[in-house]
Amino acid sequence: MKKIAILPGDGIGQEIVAEAVKVLECLRDDHGLDVVLEQGLVGGTAYDATGTPLPEETLKLAQEADAVLLGAVGGYQWESLDIAVRPEKGLLGLRAELGLFANLRPAILYPQLADASTLRPEVVSGLDIMIVRELTGGIYFGQPRGVRTLDNGERQGYNTLVYSESEIRRIGKVAFEIAAKRQGRVCSVDKANVLECTELWREVMTDEAGAHPDIELSHMYVDNAAMQLVRAPKQFDVMVTTNMFGDILSDCAAMLTGSIGMLPSASLDENGKGMYEPIHGSAPDIAGQNVANPLATILSVAMMLRYTLDAPAMAERIEQAVSTVLDEGLRTQDIWSEGTRKVSTSEMGDAVVAAMRRQ
Ligand code: NAD
Repeated sequence: MKKIAILPGDGIGQEIVAEAVKVLECLRDDHGLDVVLEQGLVGGTAYDATGTPLPEETLKLAQEADAVLLGAVGGYQWESLDIAVRPEKGLLGLRAELGLFANLRPAILYPQLADASTLRPEVVSGLDIMIVRELTGGIYFGQPRGVRTLDNGERQGYNTLVYSESEIRRIGKVAFEIAAKRQGRVCSVDKANVLECTELWREVMTDEAGAHPDIELSHMYVDNAAMQLVRAPKQFDVMVTTNMFGDILSDCAAMLTGSIGMLPSASLDENGKGMYEPIHGSAPDIAGQNVANPLATILSVAMMLRYTLDAPAMAERIEQAVSTVLDEGLRTQDIWSEGTRKVSTSEMGDAVVAAMRRQ
């Protein structure tokens, strides 16, 4: 029996996670998924109830669970709080405490939604990229860092890009293993022509590729990768890159799809345990209205089944059901267009469950 920690968080987090739970319950009740679901508080909601955005109880629940499903955190009412107890601290605390070093961000564009992209439909229709971003190292964490005053009185800001061989190898391994479940191609993105640290990155990636003979490895400089992502994004299968390059490229890739409410994500530890969440935030502007798109969260459950629970057939069942409801013309307001049927958050969740039951 696997334990899943359910952390809805704030704003639309509450509404979208409720729909993802319906999907998990359907798999548990109708298809034999052996799981127990336990709810916890995180973010502003947790702060209001306990005085901290990451209560001990929630951390313990997340540590003991096999996987975590998170909604989103944040909201206007907590913006004036001291930074140490802001909702985002709950999320960052979870990532750090759970040792989640690999961030998986798919950019998928369902053909039914090709018009939502700012790029021409033929460039992006059917897009399916997985960006694997190193999450706990690199320039965002490297020491020394700070702002110092030079002898001439001028201030100077500085950060350090640092990666050890083992950090590069473990993120590479994640990327190669994911590629083995996809089209078998990894593109490692670096700036090896300028940065020694990423010269080592390239060397270690090439070495690690030797342990994955079925995977085709290519290398690309980050400036070219950014250009290729908007020129011909369908050339990519899996991209693996550093923390900062991944931060930028994954947002760029996500926006190729034009629909923030559709994109899931995962952050994994050394043992494949993961935290799964939509890429969007708590959308306080639409919270409580039953209009948010729950599909990113539902698709996060599919990622959980594939990458932590090792149940790819159930993951496909969810993805197929999502495709079916889109084929049927159901749309929440964020992806609605003329000729399709506008549905609420809960109607969308119910439709996905109904489509799963019909399969
Ligand atoms: P956001 O992603 O919450 O919202 C951006 C826009 O997209 C809004 O117009 C929103 O209505 C829309 N949107 C987002 N998700 C949607 C969905 N599922 N369906 C329909 N529309 C959706 O980003 P923001 O407005 O910059 O931030 C709002 C709050 O969320 C802030 O407090 C921020 O700190 C927090 N945030 C949290 C996370 C997280 O929990 N991982 C990520 C980003 C932002």
